[in-house]
Amino acid sequence: MADQNSNGSGNPERYDIIVVGAGPAGQSAALYAGRSRIPTLVLERGIPGGQLWNTAEVEDYPGFEHIMGPDLAERMQKHAEKFGATFETAEAESISVDGDDRVVRTADGREFRAAAVIVTAGGEARKLDVPGEDELAGKGVSYCAVCDGAFFQDADIAVVGGGDSAVEEGTFLTRYGKRVHVIHRRSEYRAQPILIEQMRATGKVEEVLDTVVEEIHGTDGRVSHLTLRNVESGERSELRVQAVFPFVGFTPHSDVFDPEVAARIEVDESGHIVTDQAMRTGVPGIFAAGDVRSQFVRQITNAVGDATTAALAANAYVEQLKHARSKQAPAQGRGREAA
Ligand code: NAP
Repeated sequence: MADQNSNGSGNPERYDIIVVGAGPAGQSAALYAGRSRIPTLVLERGIPGGQLWNTAEVEDYPGFEHIMGPDLAERMQKHAEKFGATFETAEAESISVDGDDRVVRTADGREFRAAAVIVTAGGEARKLDVPGEDELAGKGVSYCAVCDGAFFQDADIAVVGGGDSAVEEGTFLTRYGKRVHVIHRRSEYRAQPILIEQMRATGKVEEVLDTVVEEIHGTDGRVSHLTLRNVESGERSELRVQAVFPFVGFTPHSDVFDPEVAARIEVDESGHIVTDQAMRTGVPGIFAAGDVRSQFVRQITNAVGDATTAALAANAYVEQLKHARSKQAPAQGRGREAA
């Protein structure tokens, strides 16, 4: 069982596995670890579910022909809890190594220890980094269609990006908007063809290709229009919209390690954590899975699959460590007797 000493007493809480982040990958790791009867703690700074809370409709998770992202998030959490994982609301600030312990310190000053840590911290929406974006955030600029779409009934809505998120969330926003302008910097989308077909089938989408947003303007503190630039002709234009939803990619939360550990963990050019096929990082006992990990695709399905691998690999690591310790202990005992 986990040593449930309170952090208030100065003693760290100890588990076998700590999972950092409770998106689909974290929930799956928790489910597998919990089901293997391993004392497991899941740390999540926000609401469990990760990017599912920013995903309107999910149609590509087997067994669910159609489910809303937040509904899937809630189901995943209930399922993981059923197998005994402990959930704590806390932001993991640094992961370090102390002998055989992997130590997670949280922003609220607590310390948790385990033999293994699985980092499933996901990431967050990348910003456009244009004037007006920060000032008008929450006043027409939003990164979550499912959260804010309903505020823009019969409005002109802009979506920026050409990947799966932009096209999928753009399609969802046609439920509310009079017109959805999908602004993409190239002439071809990166999104899957089926998603593009679904978007076009709505008949409510205006595709603004080869175009970037240069500035977001507001009137009376709310988004009023955008300055656009056609990257081919260089021509600038204005587009009147009441809302803009940038979906231009994802920044991974891979900066959760203390400097000594970070120096031993490889990340790719976009900051995603590189692992081997068992989801092991360069530091024994530290695993990574889900959107924070460097990989070819970022789907719910492979986040869940990789987290399964990570949980089982972490389990094997913990067992090996216990076995090694149990062999060491009597030997050490004999040594003391002899002395
Ligand atoms: P993404 O695939 O990286 O696409 C980002 C898009 O934004 C690209 O079209 C990119 O243009 C554009 N972009 C990047 N920076 C920009 C900037 N500064 N200004 C304007 N445009 C910019 O990101 P995502 O759509 O968020 O998807 C992330 C991952 O989740 C992907 O692996 C995706 O497949 C997955 N996902 C899957 C589903 C699904 O299967 N249903 C749904 C959502 C997300 P370029 O194309 O020119 O680079």
